[in-house]
Amino acid sequence: MIPAAFDYQVADSADAAIAALAEHGDDAKLLAGGHSLIPLMRFRLATPGVVVDIGRISDLSYINDGGDHVAIGAMTTHRALETSELLAVEAPLLRHVAGQVGDPQVRHRGTLGGSLAHGDPASDLPAALLAHGGSVVARSPGGEREIAATDFFTGFLETALGADEIITEIRIPKAAGVGWSYQKFNRRAQDWAIVGAAVMLGDDPKVALVNMGSARCVTAASRPALPAAVVPMRLRLPVTTPTRPRISTPTSSIASTLLVSSSVAASPRHRADPIKPSWSDGPVEGRCKLTFDRPSN
Ligand SMILES: Cc1cc2nc3c(=O)[nH]c(=O)nc-3n(C[C@H](O)[C@H](O)[C@H](O)COP(=O)(O)OP(=O)(O)OC[C@H]3O[C@@H](n4cnc5c(N)ncnc54)[C@H](O)[C@@H]3O)c2cc1C
Repeated sequence: MIPAAFDYQVADSADAAIAALAEHGDDAKLLAGGHSLIPLMRFRLATPGVVVDIGRISDLSYINDGGDHVAIGAMTTHRALETSELLAVEAPLLRHVAGQVGDPQVRHRGTLGGSLAHGDPASDLPAALLAHGGSVVARSPGGEREIAATDFFTGFLETALGADEIITEIRIPKAAGVGWSYQKFNRRAQDWAIVGAAVMLGDDPKVALVNMGSARCVTAASRPALPAAVVPMRLRLPVTTPTRPRISTPTSSIASTLLVSSSVAASPRHRADPIKPSWSDGPVEGRCKLTFDRPSN
């Protein structure tokens, strides 16, 4: 389909983009990699009057050591994340998750800032941000603010960003040596997640979910993510792991049921034995295993 008519502007700096947002308000949309916005515009689910192209702002593409955190520019592509040597040491979960997004073409165009701002419950990188306990830095004419990941995702395709705000930076607390795992369940390697879960262990273990309801990823470790007890979910830790997560028995109706039924539907092996579909994964030591049990009632 053909998008509705719009004006196109190029911003050569974050300040220019902020000025354009301030001028046009709700009628303006930032264009980063375009891999989420353009499809929405083609289906006329988004009809901005002004598209502000921020794709040339090279100042917003970086992965830097910020002391206790890794600082990542909003325009950093998924490809840059998945090949970063700094992230390999300090934030391996985020690096691994970036490599699971779509195909190489998507990863070369798509940006971290765009993926987070889009707020799609099915996308992978927000789960990594949540599991890492990271934050988002946003700038507007009124100044700069840092938004914790847990406050950032507010609903289906909704975030805490104001209409006049641009994401400039993403901050990921350093997590060298901390156990982690990302389980993306899909039918083909390059597909979106049918469901997924990102786990970070350490002193404050977190689990973030992908595509499990419209309420965006949630950190099961810090608040009960999953409602009524229908399917028990256990996070099994290796014996060498020093801490146990607080979510040893979170419960779920929709989420775990979806995960179980998805795995059962997709795997003939499990169709015959739908009792314990499970996966174990993780390219570093301290890996964890998520096991989803069939409800007993
Ligand atoms: C074929 C295909 C397969 C895909 N597969 C996956 C997948 O498996 N997993 C996955 O997670 N994603 C997937 N994606 C989505 C991909 O990761 C997108 O690139 C990403 O979600 C959006 O990033 P972008 O830079 O393209 O943002 P854009 O499409 O340019 O923008 C998306 C939204 O974010 C806003 N925005 C962009 N940058 C900023 C900023 N700095 N500050 C404030 N607002 C901003 C825009 O205004 C827009 O509303 C896929 C996309 C395609 C086309």
